[in-house]
Amino acid sequence: MATIGFIGLGNMGAPMAANLVKAGHTVTGYDLNPAALDALSKAGGKTAKSAADAVAGATIVITMLPAGDHVREVYLHQGGLIEATKAAAPLLIDCSTIDVETARAVTAAAETAGLAMLDAPVSGGTAGARNGTLTFMVGGTEDAFTKGKSILEAMGKNIFHAGGPGAGQAVKICNNMMLAINMVGVSEGFLLARKLGLELDKLHQICATATANSWALSNYCPAPGPVPAAPSNHDYAPGFAAALMVKDVKLSQAAADATASPTPLAAKALSFYQQVVDAGDGNKDFSVVFRWLAQQKRE
Ligand code: NAD
Repeated sequence: MATIGFIGLGNMGAPMAANLVKAGHTVTGYDLNPAALDALSKAGGKTAKSAADAVAGATIVITMLPAGDHVREVYLHQGGLIEATKAAAPLLIDCSTIDVETARAVTAAAETAGLAMLDAPVSGGTAGARNGTLTFMVGGTEDAFTKGKSILEAMGKNIFHAGGPGAGQAVKICNNMMLAINMVGVSEGFLLARKLGLELDKLHQICATATANSWALSNYCPAPGPVPAAPSNHDYAPGFAAALMVKDVKLSQAAADATASPTPLAAKALSFYQQVVDAGDGNKDFSVVFRWLAQQKRE
């Protein structure tokens, strides 16, 4: 069993760390938010007063932070994780969703310090994190992937080696760009159906077995009613916050700019999620785009 330092115990990190504890690993966590530390204690983990304390003596370090800036800060700043772990040389695994450039820069800094690092963003939402059924998309060397795989298996069901450093993040931003567009599409379909007087449960039942089916439709329906566990039935409590979706689609658009890739639907979807955030719903689940759309006028 491994000794794990876990930094970032938010909506995703807390249940992921709890699953590592359940699998028998020794987990010491740190988060800026004291309430997040309480959750880890209740799950049977230990808590630390700083990131450096959390990773002391660790053989594996996992981070689950909001964005690239946080990852740079936590790993690269004076006294950050790379400096703190240089001597013990644990495997570093960043599970946050961040830009490819930051993932590659932090991995390069880790390798220069003699440390192996994986970028291992996830898909599957908070339910996947709770149930230990996440999909991991992993970038890094074959060697590092082989070392990290059994740890990731305690938190996920599908663990894919996508390629070298940054490849996990590249897969993730393409995945979330597709999801962002799809969620708008499902929202438009359910809104139109409502206007046409259809029963949404019926629509859901039929479309979930027809060609419109998707994860957003069958598991995470943005219209209240058909999927009891979906955020749409819990006042759009996240889940995956709309502000984070804006972050991810922006990452995809920066990558599309850099590679001259046409992504017109993603650009449109981004403008919708941005308006959701501007309207004050950034902390709601991204499927709240359904409610926002319902308030729009037909152009
Ligand atoms: P979150 O905001 O709930 O959690 C992030 C945590 O990091 C917070 O508790 C915050 O206090 C902590 N943190 C920030 N800076 C820190 C620092 N310097 N030191 C220690 N802790 C710090 O976010 P989340 O929903 O858990 O998402 C985390 C990452 O996972 C994001 O990159 C997100 O895009 C990605 N992700 C989220 C979901 C989802 O459904 N929520 C799904 C897949 C991927």
